[in-house]
Amino acid sequence: MTEPNPIPSFEEILKFLQAFPIDLQKVYPRSVSSMNGLLYGMIRTGQGKKLFVIGEKELLFKDPFHGKIFHHAPSLKVCDLSPENTLSLMELFPFTRPVSLLNYPTTIGTGDRLGLATPGHVRAVKKFRVRPVLAQQSIRENGQTGRNFKAVIADAAWSVFQENYCEGYGADGDHLKSLDEVRLALDAGVSMITIDLSEKLNFEAFSIPQEAIERRFKGEIDPGDAKVLLHLFLDKEFTFRGSRGDLSIRFSDEEVKRNVLLFHQAIDFSEEVHQFLIQRTGRKPLIDFEISIDEIPFPTSPETHLFLMIALRHRGVRIDSLAPRFIGEFQKGIDYRGEVTSFREQFYRHVLIAQHYGNYKISIHSGSDKFSIFPHIGEMSQGKIHLKTAGTSWLEAVRLISLKDPSLYREMHLQALSAFGEASKHYQVTTDISCVPQIKDLTDLELSGLLDQENARQLLHITYGFLLKSELRDRIFKTLIQYEEDYGSLLDKHIEKHLEYLGAERRE
Ligand SMILES: [Zn+2]
Repeated sequence: MTEPNPIPSFEEILKFLQAFPIDLQKVYPRSVSSMNGLLYGMIRTGQGKKLFVIGEKELLFKDPFHGKIFHHAPSLKVCDLSPENTLSLMELFPFTRPVSLLNYPTTIGTGDRLGLATPGHVRAVKKFRVRPVLAQQSIRENGQTGRNFKAVIADAAWSVFQENYCEGYGADGDHLKSLDEVRLALDAGVSMITIDLSEKLNFEAFSIPQEAIERRFKGEIDPGDAKVLLHLFLDKEFTFRGSRGDLSIRFSDEEVKRNVLLFHQAIDFSEEVHQFLIQRTGRKPLIDFEISIDEIPFPTSPETHLFLMIALRHRGVRIDSLAPRFIGEFQKGIDYRGEVTSFREQFYRHVLIAQHYGNYKISIHSGSDKFSIFPHIGEMSQGKIHLKTAGTSWLEAVRLISLKDPSLYREMHLQALSAFGEASKHYQVTTDISCVPQIKDLTDLELSGLLDQENARQLLHITYGFLLKSELRDRIFKTLIQYEEDYGSLLDKHIEKHLEYLGAERRE
């Protein structure tokens, strides 16, 4: 092979690599690139994915990656995807480092629980004028999958390199509930944080009787704060003009007090995190900042949304996206349940408030598979939106297994059934297990059809943590890796369908 500048053909590289004792299984064709006279790329070996570097011996020694060098003309270095080498990758190929996606109207959080789904996600988003948040995990998900933020970002970085996706991607520390969790995510290199206010909210504020409101307001709220808040909201009309009708909101004394009681700790926490972000990154945070109140017991009314935003703004807190809890049901892995017309009306009001109070995005959580409302979301928001999906990439993995290794699927299905009782305590789902067909009555060819039925989808969706911790784990990964191209195609199709229904603009 000649010296690596310009890039040799794929066949030449393959032939060159095959001459070495490295248990080569595959070369990832899109990963090959040249830099400073060296040739870089990704391979799969019997010991997992590796980085290869080809070039003159002297240059290889200067190259920052650590690995085993095979002397030849030119020489070859084979490197593990270690934390150390991940840092070097981000130095040498800056596009592999997560970045703020503030300037892009449409963003989609794809998340990759297995560390195997990102290449498929990238293939889908490349077709549209959108940017992806490829690394997106909550502490809860990391607990279920046995990973941490650093490992999640490393997996995304190497996948981005493998696919040569140079346009920039985000990494989201999702549903963070304390300053310590925020610090942990930032230390790992996230470019976005989502704080979850659910544990800071006083839900009773909207259920206790009026007399109790007065008493608690006096007892719990600092008199100075109380005066300012009442002044901010009372005797005012908040009017929002929009092309599909105007919105006008007034607060009564009681409504202000209920909202203050609901939010006062949450507002303190949001301010604390915002200050911390500014401290860490300078006056203009380069970290995208989302607030989520989607995992709370009642839907977020436009009034409550407006209250929160005005109160935050008064404290100098700016956000980039807000995840309300919408009306209807956003269950995991299935379509929206509820009245589409009312959803549309309320969603429009949230958008109007967001446009007027800092032009942040409305963020849709549990956004997988909500096909009946995606067109409305796309239209009402005019494409300024953040959509979070994650779990259905796992479901596509299960679909792949049902197609390629039916007997493994059968074992997973039975495990899921036995874990379901425990798993369902942690999710809001209405799964009716009695409606899931008995798999012993199904032929192998019929198994993948289960992934198109709501009850079976939810069964397999919420038990992912149990399955990944079970003795089936290695076989699950082995199958997904063996058929990684097919897995990529399933994910590509799946995410493409989401973006298409949202009305995202296609690239030429
Ligand atoms: Zn959420």
